[in-house]
Amino acid sequence: MDLEVLKFGGSSLASADELRKVANVLLARRGQRRVVVCSAMGGVTNDLINIGLRASRGDESFRPSIAALEERHLNVARDLGIAQDDDRANSPSKETEALPDELQTRLNELKALCDGLFLIGELSAKSMDQLVSYGERMAVPLVSAWLKANGLNVRRVDARDWICTDQQYGAAEVQRESTRQLIRQGVTSDLQFEILITEGFIGKCAQGHTTTLGRGGSDYTASLIASAVEAKCMEKSTDVPGMLTSDPRIVDEAMIIPEMSYEEAMELCHFGAKVIYHPTIQPLRDSGIPLIVRSTFESDARGTHVVKDPKTKALVRGLSSVNNISLITLEGGQSIGRPGFSSRVFSLLAEYNVNVVLITQSSSEHSLTLGVSNADLEAAQLALNQGLEADILLSRLAPIRIDTGLSIVAIVGGGMVSTSGVSGKAFQALATAHVNVRAIAQGSTERNISIVVKTE
Ligand code: ADP
Ligand code: ASP
Ligand code: MG
Repeated sequence: MDLEVLKFGGSSLASADELRKVANVLLARRGQRRVVVCSAMGGVTNDLINIGLRASRGDESFRPSIAALEERHLNVARDLGIAQDDDRANSPSKETEALPDELQTRLNELKALCDGLFLIGELSAKSMDQLVSYGERMAVPLVSAWLKANGLNVRRVDARDWICTDQQYGAAEVQRESTRQLIRQGVTSDLQFEILITEGFIGKCAQGHTTTLGRGGSDYTASLIASAVEAKCMEKSTDVPGMLTSDPRIVDEAMIIPEMSYEEAMELCHFGAKVIYHPTIQPLRDSGIPLIVRSTFESDARGTHVVKDPKTKALVRGLSSVNNISLITLEGGQSIGRPGFSSRVFSLLAEYNVNVVLITQSSSEHSLTLGVSNADLEAAQLALNQGLEADILLSRLAPIRIDTGLSIVAIVGGGMVSTSGVSGKAFQALATAHVNVRAIAQGSTERNISIVVKTE
């Protein structure tokens, strides 16, 4: 379809000044129908989580925090001249008139919800999703009214009418086929728009409750829409000039990556590059839709293009890292060498919902090392100590060893496939910096070399 999908993240929606830039971007590129996916204003999702936690613990300080959120949204509306104050009340257009009322309605609902959490002293995952959805549901009316005030022809859609999920609150799984159909029908049912605007991050389960797609999930919403309508491209407008060779908060010299493959982007994002929420790439890859990552504030810059076949090949495209990793080591040839042992280990971990992020096994089959995030460590220990108790008691397996305080650094690049020397160079560099390598993993795709080191 002749459409582009544009996603604006929290940093692009943080204040009235940023919203002015967003409108300028859209006005400068008129003549192309666009779907705009909005996140919450910068920091609002975190604020809502904090408010919910405090309210459910009986801490009254959640009230001034809600008042501050209210003030922040209304101030932006006032600053942009789209709030319904006394001067405007007599002559506003229909759309601008509706904005403060709608915002006020959302804020009233939010207050009522938090009062409820305060009274019952409880915050379930389901209520948390309901609560955090207000970030996006307050941002969209604001952005939409602002774009209308700029003369753009805007259509609004509640993302929950399109994004169907299961009931895993906090990180719900999207039902791709029904979602795809609803989006296609929804978009084509009314093409009288320049901008179709909707919320990122939120969805709805079959029981009709609001769900969320995981932190950073607005990227994923945009990619689901782009893929469903076979858009020309999905563009992520953010606060960095593109995908960089490393996290710019860690590496000052990080450089922009002009182009990369879907597979390289997936590897980088899976291993910590927060710039794109990792499930985002798959729907785009399935439909061959290019992803462009660029800064909202430098709209001329080319940014990063993620495509099927990049024109340039790079041995190493970039690095990413994940902190808060623990290694679990199982040792003892009598158990580990037996057929079916690994399958037992992974079934035990799956039962406890533990996600294994890295696996290495020595070729002597004497030890098996698993990397898990610290958040999963307790469950992993419980699962393995219970499930392998007999092996440990019979000394077929040594007591399980745990190492914490670790990070994974991933070296990613499609050009490493069948090229020798990259790991050699990496280990040389680490040795020069006196960094001890605790574990290494390389998948057979050879696109990613993962190295476990002490976090410090
Ligand atoms: P948005 O709100 O637009 O989704 P995010 O804050 O989620 O933006 O993601 C952008 C941020 O990701 C950047 O500000 C940057 O600090 C961080 N980041 C981490 N790794 C990278 C990387 N390799 N390239 C670019 N940005 C990165
Ligand atoms: N507002 C949500 C979050 O902060 C979703 C997003 O920004 O993509 O996680
Ligand atoms: Mg994000």
